[in-house]
Amino acid sequence: MANELKERIEELLRLVEKPGRYIGRETNVSVKEAGKTNVRFGFAFPDLYEIGMSYMGMQILYNTINKREGISCERIFTPAHDMEMLMRERHIPLFTLENKTDVKEMDIIGFTLQYEMAFTNILNMLDMAGMPLRSIDRDDRFPLVAAGGPCAFNPEPLAPFIDFFIIGDGENTLPVILEKYGEFKARNKGNKLVNGTSHKIEFLKEIQCDPELAVYVPGFYEEEYDEFGNVSAYKKLYDGAPDTIQRAIIDDIDAVEFPENPVVPLIETVHDRSVVETFRGCTRGCRFCQAGMIYRPIRERSKDNILRIAEKQIKNTGHDELSILSLSTSDYSDFENLALELMGKCKANNVSLSLPSLRLDSFSFKVLDEIQGYKKSGLTFAPEAGSQRLRDVINKGITENDIYDSVRQAIGLGWKNVKLYFMIGLPTETLEDLDGIAEIAHNIVQINKEIGNGGRFNVTVSVSNFVPKAHTPFQWSPQNSTAEFTEKHNYLFDKLKIKGVTFNYHDDYTSTIEAIFARGDRRVADLLENAFKLGCKLDGWSEFFNLEGWKKAIEQWDMDENYYTTRERSFDELLPWDKINSGVKKSFLLKEMKKALNETTTHDCRYGCVGCGINERVTCHFGGIYE
Ligand code: SF4
Repeated sequence: MANELKERIEELLRLVEKPGRYIGRETNVSVKEAGKTNVRFGFAFPDLYEIGMSYMGMQILYNTINKREGISCERIFTPAHDMEMLMRERHIPLFTLENKTDVKEMDIIGFTLQYEMAFTNILNMLDMAGMPLRSIDRDDRFPLVAAGGPCAFNPEPLAPFIDFFIIGDGENTLPVILEKYGEFKARNKGNKLVNGTSHKIEFLKEIQCDPELAVYVPGFYEEEYDEFGNVSAYKKLYDGAPDTIQRAIIDDIDAVEFPENPVVPLIETVHDRSVVETFRGCTRGCRFCQAGMIYRPIRERSKDNILRIAEKQIKNTGHDELSILSLSTSDYSDFENLALELMGKCKANNVSLSLPSLRLDSFSFKVLDEIQGYKKSGLTFAPEAGSQRLRDVINKGITENDIYDSVRQAIGLGWKNVKLYFMIGLPTETLEDLDGIAEIAHNIVQINKEIGNGGRFNVTVSVSNFVPKAHTPFQWSPQNSTAEFTEKHNYLFDKLKIKGVTFNYHDDYTSTIEAIFARGDRRVADLLENAFKLGCKLDGWSEFFNLEGWKKAIEQWDMDENYYTTRERSFDELLPWDKINSGVKKSFLLKEMKKALNETTTHDCRYGCVGCGINERVTCHFGGIYE
């Protein structure tokens, strides 16, 4: 059967664009024979191969699971339009890359939730697999459907479609869940379904009841609403379900495996390079940043380990570029030595080094000058807001003088391109804050005129739309409407008509859709399902975004989108994601929100703990180290 499917898939490969997306015979791939493993896990990335293969989390879990005896991990990606059309025409189900197996033959499929605009792809993938979309309609003939990743911190918009969510770091929990599933299968071997009874429920109860596994089974809860339509309670449908789900946190990331031989993509991907994670977490406390809250505390990988993994990856992949990954590169505690030693290693192996999101101090310039040489790419700054007042509101510890000082150094060293990232629609924003964006761009052009040595010089201003996220201090904030965003873009468009300045901005309507799902409750699942049925998918790709489909779905929906987007939430409201405990206290988020409204900053907690509460769960090694 599998071989027959493989042949039918292979027939399609010469008919589609980029067949490398579907071949699955990459360097370092792990192919375990289908009948020889006890549990088969399908790691589903709800987007195209070239996006999914750039995602480090997939490489980590793929490596961790496949190292275990008796369980296998195979990859599943969203097929591109041309492939999907052919597959649907010829009744070819969604398949795994490794064994070209029908996805329905997996035991568990796990979706990673990296961004809300991929949610319709999840429904499309279930549909292409020939599986009912809603978990209630899937009996034991179908695999269990799991999900994890940052968007799982507000799981409700996907609740009807997913059997269980895994909250937090997955390296330790996911393999244990898979092993438990193997035991469960062995126990239930030969048990027949009686009157449609699902044995899966028993397994879900088992994993839900183990707090170490950080599992949330949405089917064990029901949302209740008050007379204003707000969530008033989460009614438990199963007595053993916990009140809150504590996120899984790996205390010592050196103790978990990191891939030394990651799978090397067959086609060009977004980030085509070796990647080593240096640390998780962030102490800076930007109030809009979900990652900065949900990945606390800082957990560093040791320098020796990073260097060892880097060396192995260079040898095992043949990549010509190595990058390190974290939320803020220069915050690694021994960053200067790490950067110098990585530079040496890369040079010796004729591999280029990429150090993203560097804090631009004099050491970083020295390193950048050395690694970029005469081919200097753009220098990136993320002031996020145009005025000091608004930067204080969002707690972005960067001043205009920091930027201008760095720009002066950069121009002196020969940089010709400066990229500036801003967000619009931030809480308390006024037109003066937008004027500040134009002023910064103008001042940088002026600095170049004063001290530059001629030639073409460009400042790119990239503006994204602020979307409030769950588990951040701004989780209560209203979002700008689509019309407000459009108005602000038009305003900036006029203000940024400056010679030498390029202006880029994000689509407005997609931010409204993103916002509905970022802070939605269970009722937004109907919108998602209808949008998918109206043809919406690959929404993260501007060329495929189906504006008409989404507008129609919103029109046909029982709810008003403004309830989720532009409405200001009251501080005592029960939030749909309150049952998910990230370890950072809600009282801390509220305190930060109030400080934001008072335009007061909170210092980086490396300079003293500011009481987020995560140290009540795990040891916080890097908080307060400069006290
Ligand atoms: S517990 Fe304190 S030091 Fe640790 S992350 Fe939270 S605020 Fe920072």
